[in-house]
Amino acid sequence: MKLNQPVSTFCIILPDLQHVLTSDNTSDLTVQWTEDETKRIIVGKFRGGGQASPLIASFDFDYTLVVPKSGKTYPVDGSDWKLLDSRLPKFFSDYVEKGYRLVVVSNQGGIEKGKVNVNEVKKRFNDSIVALGQPCLVLIATHDDIFRKPRIGLWSYLSEELQPSVDIDFERSFYVGDAAGRKKSALRKADHSCADLLFAVNAKLNFMLPEQFMSCAAKGATMCNQSKSLLSQIDCFKPSEERDNAEQFILREVATGAKVTSLQTVLPTQLHCIIFSGMSATGKSSFYRRHLKQLNYVYISRDEMNCAMSKCESLAEKTLSASQNVVIDNTSVDKTSRAKWIQVCKDRRAIPIIFHFKLPLKHIFHNNVYRKLTTAQSTVTSVLIYTQNKRFEEPTASEGATVFEVNFVPTFTSEEQRTLYYMYLTEK
Ligand SMILES: [Mg+2]
Repeated sequence: MKLNQPVSTFCIILPDLQHVLTSDNTSDLTVQWTEDETKRIIVGKFRGGGQASPLIASFDFDYTLVVPKSGKTYPVDGSDWKLLDSRLPKFFSDYVEKGYRLVVVSNQGGIEKGKVNVNEVKKRFNDSIVALGQPCLVLIATHDDIFRKPRIGLWSYLSEELQPSVDIDFERSFYVGDAAGRKKSALRKADHSCADLLFAVNAKLNFMLPEQFMSCAAKGATMCNQSKSLLSQIDCFKPSEERDNAEQFILREVATGAKVTSLQTVLPTQLHCIIFSGMSATGKSSFYRRHLKQLNYVYISRDEMNCAMSKCESLAEKTLSASQNVVIDNTSVDKTSRAKWIQVCKDRRAIPIIFHFKLPLKHIFHNNVYRKLTTAQSTVTSVLIYTQNKRFEEPTASEGATVFEVNFVPTFTSEEQRTLYYMYLTEK
């Protein structure tokens, strides 16, 4: 049977219900659900959820195991599903026989957004998992947090909490998913994201596309056609740890291209003002804390002071009039907003210096997600990031200030933070 060919749900369910109907254990009839309120995840176990095993056969849910039978992109209700491939119950049974634990790992962010009813979601999972007929563990991420793929919260939950004493066999374990960042082709639409492929990379799992899994399982093989080359074909981002470890300079002077490793060599001894220019999540405030705080600047940040721009301006004027150096930590993304500060400097015979926090847009999105996952600090919306990006004008010396580009190097307070930072955190 070809993929996506309509199949009769009735035909699939009937044979698989045989063992269930003859069982006298009622927990065998349905998926047993528990909701972990603190983690904001939903865990389902069908027929006990399978035995702990070093061999994990894990699967995405939508468009990997099931598709809406209505033909719509999103299921209309809890009954709107059919198996992607009618051979799946047989394949599941084969993998259980080979000693694999079957695990379904799914993003259902519509629950947090209120777009779908949680009971309808559970019904859709329940009925399809029952149709598949094998002991199975279901892990559902309901929020945009560490548990949402491609982030590996659900994988950590499985390996650390559900089978803590088992060493997973990464050679033979795998994950199957359809969201692999593939571009549009004559045969199919573009993938909606890279979340599945990047989840597998983050978890260090072998990855297969659904069609690769089906043909592999049909041959009776355990694993084949691993899609390692897919990663090089997609435009996804994670920071380079090698680069961050190697590039230890602090600034680069735009006019000369010279790299600066000590601030003392470039900061004037006369009265001056450092004007930050950079979008949200480019490391401005942490740069201040790391490099400038100990140098006795008066720090003016509209975000931290939570006040009107006019108040920031009058504080800068007063401070410079009292011959104290100033750091202005605002986004100042366009020429007009920087011109205002440069004028304040000129009026008080202070030297204006611009520190440009320059990062690619994808790196900014990565930093914003990382901040959301690791701190209580509020994060900005994607819309705001795009708006800032649209308004951004690169600072130049023609504005009347010396311009330095900041070399962004992240700092961490734990190894866990470092590991997380150098993973794929965004799905597009
Ligand atoms: Mg999917």
